[in-house]
Amino acid sequence: MKYIPALLVTLLIPCLVHSKSWYKGNTHVHTTLCGHADTTPDAVAQWYHDRGYNFLILSEHNKFIDPSTVKLKGEVRDDFLLVPGEEVTGPVHSTAMNVSRLVPWGFKDKNRSKVIQNHVDETRKAGGAVILNHPNWGRPIHTHEISPVKNLFMFELYNAHPGVHSFGNAHRPSLEVLWDALLEKGMTIYGVSSDDAHKLKKWGEKENNPGRGWVMVRSKKLSSDSLTAAMLKGDFYSSSGVMLEKLERGANHIELSVNEKETACELASEFLFGRPVSKGELGTFIEFIGPGGKVHKTVTGLSASYKTKEAYLRAKVTRRVKNKDGSLREYYAWTQPVFTDGR
Ligand SMILES: [Zn+2]
Ligand SMILES: [Zn+2]
Repeated sequence: MKYIPALLVTLLIPCLVHSKSWYKGNTHVHTTLCGHADTTPDAVAQWYHDRGYNFLILSEHNKFIDPSTVKLKGEVRDDFLLVPGEEVTGPVHSTAMNVSRLVPWGFKDKNRSKVIQNHVDETRKAGGAVILNHPNWGRPIHTHEISPVKNLFMFELYNAHPGVHSFGNAHRPSLEVLWDALLEKGMTIYGVSSDDAHKLKKWGEKENNPGRGWVMVRSKKLSSDSLTAAMLKGDFYSSSGVMLEKLERGANHIELSVNEKETACELASEFLFGRPVSKGELGTFIEFIGPGGKVHKTVTGLSASYKTKEAYLRAKVTRRVKNKDGSLREYYAWTQPVFTDGR
């Protein structure tokens, strides 16, 4: 065997250290079939397979890619699964997760609540569940448009596409603000982190590449039904780099700890750049957040727990580091909320 330098070995080996019942997945990516992405379904699936992901949805715009038609090369891991899906693309976009067929996308209405409801209903008829995608892209989707929708349990809290403003800007609040508003209104809705990548041929921070947003799902087994059921129960967390060792969501409390080894592995990725921020201490910060986005407790360090009397509680972990170029970057893990009001 040829000599391979140690540094190269660490770059080639994906972060494959998560424990058995946690599965790493990306729910949103595109392929040449949409006409504006640069890589075939086979090669996109191969990229995720080769980097240690456990599942992937090839969520093509208004196209159903049957997983059985996707061919992987070489030795295929038995802990990698293509979950069937589609990005239903009309006046709003949503990922139809775990559907058995193409979901119709043609419904139009000025009232976007009705459009989202149509996506939810049509996706359920096809056996799946909806993730409402990138609410801050284009004309932002507001709280009052999402909150009336029935049977919508997931939305993209973080979408890594550089053009979708997940953290807000001068014209729109961040998607975390939107999330707290929806939760405060009584919705049971969980936040998903995804890539929405279109480009695998040209790489760089400003490019729309994969490997930047994912979910970690705690599922009994690696099957499309089991993963979807776990996500619909909120049994997952979303990440843009921070990995958890422990996550307990009790009736009125959350307890968690950060997995340093896995987080270091993810942050060493050549595909991950983090969110640039202008100020803040370096380190790991765990926040416990309730109605109105109010932060009830902040802990500096790698583990924390909190018990609430409020209607809901969620936790967010921020890792703030200094980049080689001197800029500050943030990476996150977002847990799903627990509810104390019986919803
Ligand atoms: Zn979209
Ligand atoms: Zn998309």
